[in-house]
Amino acid sequence: MDKLAGKVALVSGGASGIGKACALRLAQEGAKVVVADIDLALGEQTVTSIVEGGGTASFRTLDVTSEEQWQQCVAATIALYGGLNILVNNAGIAVGGSILTMSLEDWQRQQAVNLDGVFLGTKHSIPAMIDSGHGSVINISSVAGIKGSAHLAAYNATKGGVRLFTKGVARECAANRWPVRVNSVHPGVIETPIWDKMNPELLDAGMNTMDLETMAEQAVPTGLLGKPLDIANGVVFLASDDSSYMTGTELVIDGGLCA
Ligand code: NAP
Repeated sequence: MDKLAGKVALVSGGASGIGKACALRLAQEGAKVVVADIDLALGEQTVTSIVEGGGTASFRTLDVTSEEQWQQCVAATIALYGGLNILVNNAGIAVGGSILTMSLEDWQRQQAVNLDGVFLGTKHSIPAMIDSGHGSVINISSVAGIKGSAHLAAYNATKGGVRLFTKGVARECAANRWPVRVNSVHPGVIETPIWDKMNPELLDAGMNTMDLETMAEQAVPTGLLGKPLDIANGVVFLASDDSSYMTGTELVIDGGLCA
């Protein structure tokens, strides 16, 4: 359990769901972790769980749509732990709605969190990773970045954007011989609070149930609902030297949904 000893990690959206599981697993592997989120109370709970498990972690308030807050968060991470090696761009929201009725405001909020947030985090972390001598950027996309879903086109656009943004930045890092790898992760149906926050109108749009066990039984080839730990284990792999020859690739963790 020391694959990441000596490494420093920053996890956006680390207060809940997949981000929380990533923070816990990265810390279990020896990384010092900054948990960053807009939710202070839940973020502090993630930190407490890590510290109680013998790991090292701190919380930092971060709205991923703010460039200024990203700059402050990266600077605080370096001040606290001496560098930055691992960024998990995980914070995300899912705004549902028909293309006929979705407001421009909702579209822009979806893009701001899921796409601007990944852009800003990547932009401000890569210089710190170069200075630290080693870096791995892991962008949490989705199976929704590979295939479309009715009434989730705005979310599809962000996750498809994250997928190709990842490849473009990976190639820029490689071309410059920067010691930074950049990969995306594509979760399928994972049991987290994000589903409770989605608009109920998705029920009218091809998703005939919001019960996750039933949804997985109907839609996932294995019939199994994914857990946050399933994604966190993939993130640890991409953060560690086990994946040292991988950059610009996409790790699909979906029970066969895209197969
Ligand atoms: P989650 O449990 O809702 O966690 C997301 C976290 O991000 C929450 O703590 C949320 O805070 C926070 N957040 C939202 N807006 C933010 C902002 N502007 N700045 C900083 N933090 C913000 O969701 P999750 O399922 O773990 O999702 C994590 C990532 O996985 C997302 O990118 C999501 O799109 C992706 N994903 C999830 C699934 C799935 O089935 N669960 C599948 C594919 C991809 P609030 O609760 O206060 O909003």
